[in-house]
Amino acid sequence: MKVLVAAPLHEKAIDVLKNAGFEIVYEEYPDEARLLELVGDVEAIVVRSKPKVTRKVIEAAPKLKVIGRAGVGLDNIDLEAAKERGIKVVNSPGASSRSVAELAVALMFNVARKVAFADRKMREGTWAKKQAMGIELEGKTIGVVGFGRIGYEVAKIARALGMNVLLYDPYPNEERAREVGGTFASLEDLLRESDVVTLHVPLIEATHHLINEERLRLMKPTAILINAARGAVVDTEALVKALQEGWIAGAGLDVFEEEPLPADHPLTKLDNVVLTPHIGASTVEAQMRAGVQVVEQIVEVLKG
Ligand code: NAD
Repeated sequence: MKVLVAAPLHEKAIDVLKNAGFEIVYEEYPDEARLLELVGDVEAIVVRSKPKVTRKVIEAAPKLKVIGRAGVGLDNIDLEAAKERGIKVVNSPGASSRSVAELAVALMFNVARKVAFADRKMREGTWAKKQAMGIELEGKTIGVVGFGRIGYEVAKIARALGMNVLLYDPYPNEERAREVGGTFASLEDLLRESDVVTLHVPLIEATHHLINEERLRLMKPTAILINAARGAVVDTEALVKALQEGWIAGAGLDVFEEEPLPADHPLTKLDNVVLTPHIGASTVEAQMRAGVQVVEQIVEVLKG
């Protein structure tokens, strides 16, 4: 059986396919025209956020039984076309939870201790000791908005740091909350009481601009906002105002309403913000797990 690996895949994942006896065709991010040439005799295709598996590609693959996405989002796969043909689509939703959580914590420390700011100043030749006064995190309150896989990992780390943990989720899991010593609160109370607010909700209609001007104004002027969920969970215009006018103290952002973030965006002009280019899942471990989990499911589908 033939598997088309159409995106870089961790070598451990490749080994799983080889050990299962599959023939592997590897080509990095082929465009649609090239995909059409490649898929004629394959039983499975493995992709990441690229390339696009369109209806045309699916229709050109008569033997295709399963499409694997090493990662979470399935927006590059025509799910409707796959469903019509009875082709299974598998992914690896939990593979990057710990990595995203650790990045959220890294952003929290970075904003609290002005690490990126101080680094920038030093490279400009300025010893910004006075301007880089920070805060400690032990004893502070963190508000975790969205207590799912990633929120749980963040809460666990925050607890180990000696932080008080507040949680907000419309589907509260009390047992998991007990595990991290967390207490559920309303979103409004969480925003009022937290020194750090960290967002881990999916982007759905109910969470679009969940953090808007009104809610930013509820936060403490000393508070830090972390967003490693999706850009549009926060109203960016309101956030820029909040950071410029001191409604909150700082923010750490890995995701943006517009990606890549334009170089001249107002956020890039602010010293109290730390920005990273959507790297939550960009770790060796997350990529390895994502690859292995996906190919294991592919083996299961193809070998029954
Ligand atoms: P998850 O599904 O395990 O958890 C999401 C939680 O949010 C659930 O507990 C759900 O009940 C809760 N929720 C739903 N609607 C809510 C609302 N209106 N208010 C508050 N909570 C709400 O998802 P996860 O694996 O923890 O991932 C969370 C998000 O992180 C993803 O949807 C994705 O957008 C983002 N993410 C970012 C990166 C990155 O690179 N920065 C990587 C992976 C995932």
